[in-house]
Amino acid sequence: MAVKVVIVGGGAAGLALASKLGRKFGLKGDMDIYLIDKSPMHIWKPKLHEVAVGIIDQSLEGVLYRDHGLKNGYRYVSGELTGCQPEKKIIELAAVLDSEGDEVVPKREICYDYLVLALGGVSNSFNTPGAEPHCIFLDNLPSAERFHNKLLDGLLHANETQDKLSIGIVGAGATGVELAAELHHVIESVKSYGYLNISAQNLEVHLIEAAPKILSQLPDRVSLRAQALLIKLGIKLHLGVQVKEVTKAGFVTASGELIAANIKVWAAGVKGPNIFSQLTALPITGRNQVQVDACMRVQGHEGVYALGDCAELFLANGKPVPPRAQAAAQMADCLFVNLQRRLKGQDEQAFVYKDYGSLVSLSRFSAVGSLMGSLRSGTFFVEGHLARIMYVSLYQRHLASLYGWGAAIVYRFAQKLLRWHRPKLKLH
Ligand SMILES: Cc1cc2nc3c(=O)[nH]c(=O)nc-3n(C[C@H](O)[C@H](O)[C@H](O)COP(=O)(O)OP(=O)(O)OC[C@H]3O[C@@H](n4cnc5c(N)ncnc54)[C@H](O)[C@@H]3O)c2cc1C
Repeated sequence: MAVKVVIVGGGAAGLALASKLGRKFGLKGDMDIYLIDKSPMHIWKPKLHEVAVGIIDQSLEGVLYRDHGLKNGYRYVSGELTGCQPEKKIIELAAVLDSEGDEVVPKREICYDYLVLALGGVSNSFNTPGAEPHCIFLDNLPSAERFHNKLLDGLLHANETQDKLSIGIVGAGATGVELAAELHHVIESVKSYGYLNISAQNLEVHLIEAAPKILSQLPDRVSLRAQALLIKLGIKLHLGVQVKEVTKAGFVTASGELIAANIKVWAAGVKGPNIFSQLTALPITGRNQVQVDACMRVQGHEGVYALGDCAELFLANGKPVPPRAQAAAQMADCLFVNLQRRLKGQDEQAFVYKDYGSLVSLSRFSAVGSLMGSLRSGTFFVEGHLARIMYVSLYQRHLASLYGWGAAIVYRFAQKLLRWHRPKLKLH
């Protein structure tokens, strides 16, 4: 009987792994690969802020697991992980309900030979009072769609009343910075779609960061350049500012100031998925990640692996693997090889993280970042169109892992053609 691999979470790591295993073994019936995700559609997470502002349309860029699985040799199961019994090699999935709350599919159990946990991460509110009820956490497609609807309502209101639309974003990491920059450019596009009374004066974007600089994980040169560009776009930076409470009116800072915002986004910090706090059989950390060894194996549980943002893996230099798309993709590649080695009775190899640098998109036309490895200093600075091309190529690599290089290039070209005759901005 074919070995059964169950992958939970079809994101940057899980979907890449399912696709590679599926094409190599699943299509021939040599392996039974199940991909479980609570959402029917995959959107590459670094594109969520583009969905949120409406410059990409999820119906064009999204990958439907059911269809993709059929062509790439894995079975998609719609479901949300709620429990894990590693001693019985069983996972539990929640009941599926319809929009009126009626049960469509009851709770289920699924057995496995190998289990791969790839549930990603969520933003960390650090228990800040009011953050959960008042902020949008840009962690998944529904939250990006919620932001988009609020943005359209806010723009409509501003167009009719000339009131200001104020948007506050907590966290000036890549997500916060990219979202702030795109918002500015949306104002320029929206005018051509009949919002004639709107100008840059109607939009106020506040970016609030506890650290003294934006993009605090990146080299000073990158963060200072991005900072200068954001200031030029008119974005209001609040650096070294701690948010102590969120209310309907806005963000209350540690010094008692209120930063008023109609739309509030929380994009600070990353932790593992909330459900992990209930998976008591597994070694879960204080940040809700599951501890894995150098080969991504969950210690003490035969045949259980974890990768991507939900896994805590310390590298040989003592540093944890960062929560990044490039790390998730590399982990998927490593596990793809290791599962094959294991099935052949060979030793598995330790994961080695190659940091190729970081790129931050500052709109459809520009990006800044640092790339690793080629110059004497080890890193070099890129910006403008060149950085943007490199940023876009990261997405192309992701598509290649889902479809293979040839099909990924055709797919991207087809997407571009379809986008060509659609509105530049999603208006509904
Ligand atoms: C707005 C934004 C911008 C970003 N930009 C960049 C960037 O420019 N560069 C970069 O390197 N990184 C970026 N990141 C980080 C990067 O996206 C993540 O590190 C990467 O996606 C992690 O991959 P993953 O497979 O671990 O998780 P994800 O890609 O998050 O996938 C997790 C999957 O698990 C599913 N899931 C979750 N819970 C359950 C459950 N209980 N049951 C079933 N399924 C479940 C989800 O639906 C999802 O499909 C960004 C993140 C965000 C939010």
